[in-house]
Amino acid sequence: MNPVKIKTTVYLFSLLLLSCVQIKETQKIIFDEHRLEISGFSEIQRHQLERTIAQLKSLIPGPLEIKEVRYRRLSQFEHLFGFSFHGEPLSAWVLRRFSNITYGNPWTVAVNQNKGTLIIGDLFFTELSNLERLYLLVHEARHSDKHGFKHSKCPEGFPFVSAGQPKQDLQGELACDKTPNGAYGYQAAFLFEIFAYGLFEQREAGLLYNSSISRIIQ
Ligand SMILES: [Zn+2]
Repeated sequence: MNPVKIKTTVYLFSLLLLSCVQIKETQKIIFDEHRLEISGFSEIQRHQLERTIAQLKSLIPGPLEIKEVRYRRLSQFEHLFGFSFHGEPLSAWVLRRFSNITYGNPWTVAVNQNKGTLIIGDLFFTELSNLERLYLLVHEARHSDKHGFKHSKCPEGFPFVSAGQPKQDLQGELACDKTPNGAYGYQAAFLFEIFAYGLFEQREAGLLYNSSISRIIQ
């Protein structure tokens, strides 16, 4: 073979090899009675996903770590979700809202593009803390309800920053909610319970709660 032919053959062979590596089969993961179709993830990612859902399910409120009077004033969980805070009904609530989870672009964190289809990318696994993964599932699950509770543009002069994406200017971005019962409201309500019961590092939970609340503009 002449050098050009060899080069072409090597190139085609590499492409074929690459496409084989990237094809990952569709699998089902079953949590209790919930059947989730997942596709495109590596073994490590699939296990991480399973661990995240199991962690959500294992949340049990113990004694309050803040004053009860403050808890009563700020807790929105039961009002929004329709049940009191506990990992079992919460994980069932989340799982009911997804029928399949697929691997997306490496730079995707998580998007609920269509009702019930959650797309997750590498950043979900590499850049987030355990608590961030949990609240993201709650956030994305809320996008499956009714008309999807789409976000609104953060207003001109919006003073808050995105701690997770420091390069992004939130002003004018579809990263706010005009309603307290959208994805940010549910995310904040979840984080407040985590903060109040001290279930994760309380400082992280408190900061994430404040940041989530800042996205609700009225
Ligand atoms: Zn969202």
